[in-house]
Amino acid sequence: MAPFESMDISEDVLSSSSSSASSPNSLSASEECAVCGNDVVNSSRYGAPGCLGCIVFFRRAIVRNSVFKCLKDGNCNITNEYRCACRYCRLQKCFTVGMRAEAIQRRDLVGPRNPLDIKANLRNLIDIPAGSDTTIDESKENLLQNLVTLQAEQFVKALQYFSDHGLTTHPRRAESHDVNVMLKLCINQASEWGRQLKPFKRLSIESKQSILAEYGFAFLLVDQGFKTAKEAKDGFWLLQNNSFMHSNYFLGVTEEMEIEATTNKKAEYHEKFVSELLHCVAKPFRDLEIDEIECAALKTVLLLTPSFSKRAVYSGQEGYVAAVHTQCMEELMEHSLNKFPDRGEERFGEILLLISSIRCGIKAIYNQTRVSDVFNFREFDSVVKDILLS
Ligand SMILES: [Zn+2]
Ligand SMILES: [Zn+2]
Repeated sequence: MAPFESMDISEDVLSSSSSSASSPNSLSASEECAVCGNDVVNSSRYGAPGCLGCIVFFRRAIVRNSVFKCLKDGNCNITNEYRCACRYCRLQKCFTVGMRAEAIQRRDLVGPRNPLDIKANLRNLIDIPAGSDTTIDESKENLLQNLVTLQAEQFVKALQYFSDHGLTTHPRRAESHDVNVMLKLCINQASEWGRQLKPFKRLSIESKQSILAEYGFAFLLVDQGFKTAKEAKDGFWLLQNNSFMHSNYFLGVTEEMEIEATTNKKAEYHEKFVSELLHCVAKPFRDLEIDEIECAALKTVLLLTPSFSKRAVYSGQEGYVAAVHTQCMEELMEHSLNKFPDRGEERFGEILLLISSIRCGIKAIYNQTRVSDVFNFREFDSVVKDILLS
């Protein structure tokens, strides 16, 4: 049996991704943002239906006491397309349509708490009551910041593990042992990531495994894609311990390596596989110069929006999923606006598009293991196999 046959990799892996760009708790389709007319309404909690961009814009403006100036006559047209053009008029419009500063909860005004207090903050997150969306602002400040702290700890732990096990290396060709270790590492870390988030934490063991079988790869692609984009030369895909894959299957082969007698077909598949990873993941990560917060946001969204065939796993906890997803989207939007004040909303969209790029990469991994199994997934140790092949 092919190792991934039982995983039901449906053809919708790609098409299902488009829905992840919209918030799962969007209101009815007939409503639109009262400020800019965007037809994806995030919530009405500030007094009028607003899209994510306008909600975050309004909160930031109030929390920061921003003073804007109109360069025209204070009567600019605020539309979905041009809403960023005049912040003065956009804020006026927020008030005109009924958004109220008092509706912003006190905790919003207090600002970030100590980001190192990760346990307390995550505990807050884990205690959100089901289906409630009124506590979103209250209880979960700094979700992404907390996850970035966890991510940094995980990077450090991984390096420690490599050094303890003689896996730290100068760049060299990755062998199946490297791939095996990275996969195991990512499944462990992905599972630790999931335990910070209530919707995942509450799943049965079987459901967790089912999610991790797919999500482990997503997690791995984000971490390796991030490292590759930052550190690798063109054409190389880097694993966490600096071993690499190159589209030329034979590049970096040394005499000591036990490369099994390889057909040309296998080398050909390998070339296709690595090229796909580089093209789908490394290139957009590099072009966008994505940062740690954006990686954390991608990992979180990918955990909450598995491919279509697995989505039912979260049934019964849509409220939790929606709450965490919304929190993640808002913080990503806020981050994008901080990083690129003039084109934050565009940046936000570019980051979300990476979700389908990553799904492309996952598909490449599935195809690769199915047709050639260069890295001998069948031989992987039992922890990995239990999760991946269950
Ligand atoms: Zn809007
Ligand atoms: Zn104006």
